[in-house]
Amino acid sequence: MVTPATSGPRRFEFTSTPAVLTARARGSFVPCPVCDADNERYLFHKLGVRFVRCRSCGLVYANPPATASRPYFDVIAAGQHERPKDRALFDAEVADIVKEAAAQFERRRGRTPRDIVLVGRVLDDTATPTGARAVKVIRFGLDETERLSRDGDVGPILQHLDEATDVLILNEVLEACPRGALVMSKLTSALADGAFVAVVFSNVGSFPARVLRRYWPRYFAWKSVYFDTENLTKLMDRVGLRLVGHERRPTAYTLSYIAERLTSKRPAAPLLDRTPLGSIAVRLPAGTSLAVYEKQPGLRTTEMLSVVVPVFNEATYVGPVLDALLAKKVSIPKEVIVVESNSTDGTREIVRAYEGADGLRVVYEDKPRGKGSAVRRGLAEARGSIFLIQDADFEYDLDDYDALLEPILQRRASFVLGSRSLGLDDWKVRRYASSKVKAFLMNFAQVMFAKTFNVLYQQRTTDVNTMFKVFRRECIEGTVFRGNGFNFDIELACMIVSNGFSPMEVPVNYVARGFDEGKKINFITEFYPSYSMLYRCRFRRPQRP
Ligand SMILES: [Zn+2]
Repeated sequence: MVTPATSGPRRFEFTSTPAVLTARARGSFVPCPVCDADNERYLFHKLGVRFVRCRSCGLVYANPPATASRPYFDVIAAGQHERPKDRALFDAEVADIVKEAAAQFERRRGRTPRDIVLVGRVLDDTATPTGARAVKVIRFGLDETERLSRDGDVGPILQHLDEATDVLILNEVLEACPRGALVMSKLTSALADGAFVAVVFSNVGSFPARVLRRYWPRYFAWKSVYFDTENLTKLMDRVGLRLVGHERRPTAYTLSYIAERLTSKRPAAPLLDRTPLGSIAVRLPAGTSLAVYEKQPGLRTTEMLSVVVPVFNEATYVGPVLDALLAKKVSIPKEVIVVESNSTDGTREIVRAYEGADGLRVVYEDKPRGKGSAVRRGLAEARGSIFLIQDADFEYDLDDYDALLEPILQRRASFVLGSRSLGLDDWKVRRYASSKVKAFLMNFAQVMFAKTFNVLYQQRTTDVNTMFKVFRRECIEGTVFRGNGFNFDIELACMIVSNGFSPMEVPVNYVARGFDEGKKINFITEFYPSYSMLYRCRFRRPQRP
């Protein structure tokens, strides 16, 4: 296929694979299944399948989609989980997913779900994976699989869905089908308002996928689409499903299974099989995610901006900041939530005077527990679809709100960072006439935070410490935060990215407040907790509320 290069070690051309040629002849290249954009970037070939990435939403998909019918849903035919122990682990994982989806429904709706329907990759002999709970398991035969992937035919699922279906679980179903929007609109219209759709998928935005790139084991020729949380959510948004929770799910494997995959059936696996070692199970972050969506009554939720303002001993600035906030016009409705942490300098009295102002609410804390704690309290009270955290000072420019909101409203990003260094020299962020050493340290810290963040989370950011973090509600839905102090700021960014939302950076104005003017960050006591938070969030186990 590839003609050997005659000059130099690099080859710049290759002949098309048979799959590409056949598809071209049939004209079966498809636009992006999520956003319909016809703007793709070639990624790689694997086993004759050509993978591309949508430049607009980041979806990775096979183009042309695989046409040959394959027993995609037959786990055994796919050569997976031949050992009894591996099958048991697989079953246990499916059962746990059902349990978790049901638990999320119960937490949100206050009652146990009636019917649960499970579709997708399950073992043949799985009766009801949850034991007691009534679960309908729908299996796809070869014909049905082909009709699903070719025409988006979900007839076999639809006949089991009705008003009593509270939870529909799609276990790696959407990946088998390039027509996800069609499939989801059919399925969603068969469900009642408030029903849950739980999607298990191989997350292309996960850490293993980002690091291993084309060698990520989850890329295999039988799948045609690979989502990350963000573009999956975009797809669901089109059909009126709103994200209410998501988590990474480390997958359990036996050592034999891992050895087999890593060594392509060389002697390691058979050897391990003969020892007790082989059946030891380990949990690996393989890149599987569970995202849970709720069907919205009516088609679309209306947008609202919630501005959370944590306030503690800010008597000088709080009044003018609140005035400016109330006067600030944005293109969607907004609410301002002030969290006052029992200041000792008269701030509480100033805030009290704003009580009752249109679009402003005040939450009083009985004692200061740190900025992070105040922000968390404010976020819990917020009713908007988009959140923004505003310090009670003028270091940042309120005029930047519009630029920060725009990519979110256009659904080009769910998480936006206002970067103080974008387009500037990294070292010009803070200039204090009084304290040159401190200014240098602050600038150095910012660069160090951004670089560490980028390496740990595989991102490209210039300023992760910025106050301006604007994000959709779904970015933090179901996330448990622990930071109470200034380290919450870093935790927030890390957890949003861990949840699968990459930040988009927008340049903002910034006027540093001098330390003498009451800047409350203590370099020594705040630096370490914040910096170590970068690492702690990276290796934190997913937590449930
Ligand atoms: Zn796209």
